[in-house]
Amino acid sequence: MGQQTILYIEDDPASRRLVERVLQHSGYEIVTAETGLKGIDIARKLLPDLIITDIDLPDLRGQEIATALRADARFTHIPIVALTAMTYGEHREMAMAAGLDGYMIKPLNTAKLREQVKYYLEGGRDDIDPESLSAGQARFTREIVARLEQRIRQLEDANAALVRLDRMKENFIQITAHELRTPLTLVYGYVRLLEDFPSLKGLMQQDESVKGLIQGLVDAIERMHGVVNEILTTSRIMARQIELNISGFKLGELMERVIEEYMPDLEERDLTLKFDPTEWHADIRADRELIRLVVSNLLSNAMKYTPDGGEITIGVQEFKRRVTFFVRDTGIGIDPKQQLYIFDNFHTVADSSMHSSSKTAFEGGGLGLGLPICKGIIEVHGGEIRVESVGYDPENCPGSTFIVTLPLVALH
Ligand code: ADP
Repeated sequence: MGQQTILYIEDDPASRRLVERVLQHSGYEIVTAETGLKGIDIARKLLPDLIITDIDLPDLRGQEIATALRADARFTHIPIVALTAMTYGEHREMAMAAGLDGYMIKPLNTAKLREQVKYYLEGGRDDIDPESLSAGQARFTREIVARLEQRIRQLEDANAALVRLDRMKENFIQITAHELRTPLTLVYGYVRLLEDFPSLKGLMQQDESVKGLIQGLVDAIERMHGVVNEILTTSRIMARQIELNISGFKLGELMERVIEEYMPDLEERDLTLKFDPTEWHADIRADRELIRLVVSNLLSNAMKYTPDGGEITIGVQEFKRRVTFFVRDTGIGIDPKQQLYIFDNFHTVADSSMHSSSKTAFEGGGLGLGLPICKGIIEVHGGEIRVESVGYDPENCPGSTFIVTLPLVALH
């Protein structure tokens, strides 16, 4: 017979080391876990010959570990025994009722531990009379429900704390962006004045490098303005502080407007845009400016993540009370795992050091706020947004499709 494996679940490092040493000396292979959950994971992976567990662990109790493992048929014949300092009879009863085969009480001397382990490995089991077993079962059920209740309360408290922290973070972002925007608007104004300043204008005409310097300054400030505004808009949308300015308009016309804005970049990047204005009939009631922002973000992303020469399709399906439109590209696609997160704030798939913050350059990158803004806007209108893509593959470019469904009349 090969070397037998024993899993020992114990949170106290000193006990862990001691038992490990003694049993290793006796020729067993020992694997240890310091929490119940880790122990369960290891047990399921390793299927050891014997599991020894402490009762009073920080997460699950020894009895609960036994119950969890016994639910799996692979553990029917694997002995699970407790090694604990909890000497009360009721703990032993509960342990046996929960599916443990034995109950060893600490401190154990080395010889006794070896003897006991051998006994369980050879199929030995502790005896318990039926009366104690049924008392143990009733107690175990009561205790498990009480612990469950306590854990749910703890989770609720932790969740409330997280919500509070999240709100603080939102406030911090909003205040910071706001505080930055005020001086930035001033700088922006001054730089515009500087551009038109007569003596400087003359200098700019005479000297190309002065012109380049001023232009560089204007571009950088404009970009910074854009970033701060993007953060501000997102945090307002996330905090649901957006007042919708509802009006009636034709969705198709709005699409055409946005496409026109991007036409020069589409041409420069040799991207074909497929859009048939005759398909679009929907008259919707929504916040036109915000919906424009959504379409603009989706189109800009489609361009950013599609290599030159690719194709972007914007299509629509109309139903009685809802309209669904999509932006499909032949770009690099999105990993299904990432698809869960791309609508989260500040989540970008690419390495953040690669960011260029261009709205249309291939893999231009950005703050990772475009999609959260879209989601926030669509949701305040009572609609939904989702993505479909078979995966990320920059070589073969499987493409991505973003699908937006909006009620014809915003539910706000
Ligand atoms: P960013 O400012 O980084 O573009 P977004 O919120 O708009 O932020 O998008 C989040 C991430 O989702 C992007 O960094 C990108 O990895 C991925 N993504 C968005 N749109 C597409 C698309 N059409 N094709 C492939 N990946 C996309």
